[in-house]
Amino acid sequence: MTEPFINPLPIPVIGFAAYSGSGKTTLLCQLIPELQRWGLNVAVIKHAHHNFDIDKPGKDSFLLRQAGAQQVLIASAKRYAHLYEYAQQHSPQLDQLLSRIDVSSVDIVLVEGFKQLGIEKIEVHRQENEVPLLCEQDDNVIAIACCDKTPLTRKIVRLNLDDIPSICQFIVEHTGLTHKAQSRALSCSPLPDNTYDVEQAISHIMANVNNTLVKRREVTEYLRIEQSFNRVLANDIFAPIDVPQNTNSAMDGYAFAYQSWRSQLPSDDVEFDLIAQVLAGQQYSAIVGKHQTVSIMTGAKMPAGTDTVVAKERAKVKGSKVIISGDVCCGQNVRQAGEDIEKGRLLFSSGERITAAKMGLLASIGQAQVDVHRALRVAIFSTGDEVCLPDTPLEAASIYDANRYSLTGLLKQLHCEVIDLGIVKDSQQSLITALTQADAKADIVISTGGVSVGDADYIKSSLEQLGHIEFWRVAMRPGRPLAFGVLKSALFFGLPGNPVAAMICFILFVQPAIRTLAGESNWQQMTLWARAGETLRSRKSRDEYLRGYYQDDQHGQLVVRKTGPQGSGILSSMVAANCLIHLPYDQQEVHQGQLVKIIPLNDLL
Ligand code: AMP
Ligand code: MG
Repeated sequence: MTEPFINPLPIPVIGFAAYSGSGKTTLLCQLIPELQRWGLNVAVIKHAHHNFDIDKPGKDSFLLRQAGAQQVLIASAKRYAHLYEYAQQHSPQLDQLLSRIDVSSVDIVLVEGFKQLGIEKIEVHRQENEVPLLCEQDDNVIAIACCDKTPLTRKIVRLNLDDIPSICQFIVEHTGLTHKAQSRALSCSPLPDNTYDVEQAISHIMANVNNTLVKRREVTEYLRIEQSFNRVLANDIFAPIDVPQNTNSAMDGYAFAYQSWRSQLPSDDVEFDLIAQVLAGQQYSAIVGKHQTVSIMTGAKMPAGTDTVVAKERAKVKGSKVIISGDVCCGQNVRQAGEDIEKGRLLFSSGERITAAKMGLLASIGQAQVDVHRALRVAIFSTGDEVCLPDTPLEAASIYDANRYSLTGLLKQLHCEVIDLGIVKDSQQSLITALTQADAKADIVISTGGVSVGDADYIKSSLEQLGHIEFWRVAMRPGRPLAFGVLKSALFFGLPGNPVAAMICFILFVQPAIRTLAGESNWQQMTLWARAGETLRSRKSRDEYLRGYYQDDQHGQLVVRKTGPQGSGILSSMVAANCLIHLPYDQQEVHQGQLVKIIPLNDLL
């Protein structure tokens, strides 16, 4: 009888089971490099005997653990290990161990041992060991790796223990990793039918962006900090002063030398002579002597001879005496000069976006103006004979233009200068005119609509006349028709006409191009893992981006649910979303409770 097991991870888990001495570890050691040749990253969980040790007697981590540390985390620049002592002996739980695996960097988990669990497993069997076959009692055995002579009574996939590539192929196919493995192996060549996958499309776009960077980076503006919000710094900024400039009091209270407090112990009440009052913005220039104190305000410079402050509420004043009872720590309630920023320190690097907190910090080092990159100029237009302006009557068979407005919002969030070219008719001539005009004015040109294969879809043919197309199909949903190309001087994105598809393509493809061209360095799309609050489905062989809403559940864990119907024109479910849920091309279904990757949109929508 096996114990039930549910894989809590969004990546496959496959077990290797055998009686001891059958060579499970040997097989795993051969399989790991083979899986890596397929471009797959592997994690392993191994069930060991009771009292295993991975650190040697005499090593520091060993000594620390022997000394009684319940957990020891030993880390270096290359690896870390977490040693965790259970309070009482108990069987390790595979689902708990799996939850410790960082699924963002691996594609599959191989599990050695745990043969009593109902986990899909490959049996490792050697005839010469003369042990019974596990597959005869356990239906979870999906294949047996053995030699040719092993007699099998059950119909089961037989793998040759010496043929590592075939075992590897079986694992890749069985776990649905074929597509991932192939596309990693293919690196950047397009999929059949000139369709790119999302990663390939992004790397093509970024290769073109990097070619056009040099001329853009030269133009900068010198702005006052109050105008610099969300702009991208063009220079490194070093602190010219210590912040705070002076060691000062963090409380309204009494300042004195800790030593003079100590020297009066063990008396319960320690007495000081009150000699002055120091307000914020004032300086007390004399030295405070032994058994003397000054009354001091928050932010005021600590006078010479003092190092410690006791809050006003803890002191009693009797005439010219201040009496302090209770314990005092040396240096308490004092902010040291330079404790926030040390003079000479690199504060911000060129390529950082200026946030509200950074504006405050710039001001606190006395930097009233900053060099920033020029705002990126982005021209946008909508295409379609049916598309009309929101302030005109809606004619039969028409729709109001939504795309130019959602794109304007997204572009404003990225602090671009928007050049709005309005709505362009579905004709080759009007598109060529619009594209030529846009190319002359902008760094990036974005259109929506007209990129499919309909009779009135002229974007591709117009682009071919004025520049060239890099690709126009991406294996994703929503947003399959996405044209990317290069005009005379601007980059061009032909986004799909459907409003949600247009926004999602902007977020995934246009955003990184804009950020890099705007001078931003080291930007990365933020992703988080959340548990699916419901079953999520996608079609095979394309990346799916669902509109989702994530929030904490009662245990403080992130849970994500769809926001409603997912048609690529249904903008109301985008309005309700605070994230995109990403189902990669090799994942067709995510069950409730499993982890999924989400892209939070809080900073964009
Ligand atoms: P297209 O890509 O031009 O075939 O357009 C696909 C769908 O998106 C059609 O239903 C269009 O009517 C719609 N659509 C195109 N442009 C816009 C727009 N600017 N705003 C709202 N819907 C649009
Ligand atoms: Mg159209």
